Amino acid sequence: RQTLDQGLEKSREGLLGKLTRAVAGKSKVDEEVLDNLEEMLITSDVGIETTLRIIERIEERVSRDKYLNTSELSSILREEIIALLSEGEKKSEHGFLFEKQGDNPFVVMVVGVNGVGKTTTIGKIASRLQNAGKRVYIGAADTFRAAAIDQLEVWAVRAGAKLVKQQMGSDPASVAFDTLSAAKAAGADVVIIDTAGRLHNKVGLMNELTKIRNVMQKVVPDAPNEVLLVLDGSTGQNAYEQARQFSAATQVTSLAVTKLDGTAKGGVVIGISERMSIPVRYIGVGEKVEDLQIFDSRSFVESLFR
Ligand code: GDP
Repeated sequence: RQTLDQGLEKSREGLLGKLTRAVAGKSKVDEEVLDNLEEMLITSDVGIETTLRIIERIEERVSRDKYLNTSELSSILREEIIALLSEGEKKSEHGFLFEKQGDNPFVVMVVGVNGVGKTTTIGKIASRLQNAGKRVYIGAADTFRAAAIDQLEVWAVRAGAKLVKQQMGSDPASVAFDTLSAAKAAGADVVIIDTAGRLHNKVGLMNELTKIRNVMQKVVPDAPNEVLLVLDGSTGQNAYEQARQFSAATQVTSLAVTKLDGTAKGGVVIGISERMSIPVRYIGVGEKVEDLQIFDSRSFVESLFR
């Protein structure tokens, strides 16, 4: 809770400042306040569609309750956003249980463009799982960057997880195959496969991810059990675009939004979880292991509009 509040400090301060300006000199929530509120949400990276849904809900409330005091606006906003996001959560219920599937490990494929925090997120998840008594294998299938393999190794050693790697430039699908085979032979619980995130060639990305999927299924028929897309929250609107592009290239089943500390763009998580009908599973609010938190819409929104 403490780290969530600290991590979202800039976003919260940004929103508070905008909210104060939106209601300046007004005691009643009227058309003008609602217009200001709309602008505030859009400029806070909540996204246009999600903003309009939120405004609509508040308008309904204004017409129902007749007189709404601007001093209540922050708590009303909080309630309406939580209600909106929990609707979406029911729609997209999806297990991310890391439970071993019979004789097979639970397989997570991690995708995302370089620099978003993919390696760090994998390391943090592996640490958590190892600490919880699960045996984790990590596959270094981003074979295009030597640094990515080295960095993953550092995290794997720290977490006590096994890393499976080949030389730089080798076939990512082959690394994935090796990782699943080794993990299965060892009776491991979870496999996490890192992939190269190159978006400049959509067909290339699609082909590569499809190939990795197909090869993994030779070892574990229902792999991957989860496809986790990592997005950098500080890029705001860019994160929406990446979510769209990766969803077009492969079936993404959950999201991690990183680097929410040090940015005022935390609103992006609200828009993304509402728009994409893909659940946000993790948020990153710092560089330490405990700074990767399991996303809970209620505590997130409560921390953002405190
Ligand atoms: P990759 O290229 O996607 O694998 O990205 P990395 O995992 O190497 O991360 C890029 C940089 O972002 C590193 O310096 C990380 O420490 C940093 N980073 C990752 N997640 C977070 C986060 O939640 N908060 C902050 N402040 N930094 C992060």
